[in-house]
Amino acid sequence: MLKNFLPNEYVKSVFDIKPEVLHQKGIKGIITDLDNTLVAWDVKDATPEIIEWFKRMEEHDIKITIISNNKLERVKIFSEPLGTPYVYSARKPLTRAFKSVAKQMHLKKEEIVVIGDQLLTDVLGGNRAGFYTVLVVPIVQTDEKITRINRIIERKILRYMQKQGKISWEE
Ligand SMILES: [Mg+2]
Repeated sequence: MLKNFLPNEYVKSVFDIKPEVLHQKGIKGIITDLDNTLVAWDVKDATPEIIEWFKRMEEHDIKITIISNNKLERVKIFSEPLGTPYVYSARKPLTRAFKSVAKQMHLKKEEIVVIGDQLLTDVLGGNRAGFYTVLVVPIVQTDEKITRINRIIERKILRYMQKQGKISWEE
């Protein structure tokens, strides 16, 4: 049962995800979370580093779509200047948004990675939809209220996985 919570990879930040490496793996698309994955949840706009990261992915023909459980306004204001497609109120970990985005990207499941900072939404949803999942460390430790309870459960799962030797991570 816990298998669905286990990411395929665990990295410190999206900047550890390089277009060259994705290319080698045959990856042509990224489905990424927004809050605490690309920027802190209370930061409105993309940082220069994120703009550069998007640009480099584009140069390598890697498409990106943002899937967020957050509201239209938040996701739109962030995504539109980047010129990137987005889905708001995605209701992760439900798989519907993941699947429809893959279709819109005209890519196969094996050609897409799902990136996010939460086991209970991003990783669970990505895994259930059959994608390769990458967990990142949340950019800030604070969260919107609704996420806090998820974090408590998440910590327990992560600790269990570490004990089982399923995941290794040094701060
Ligand atoms: Mg998030």
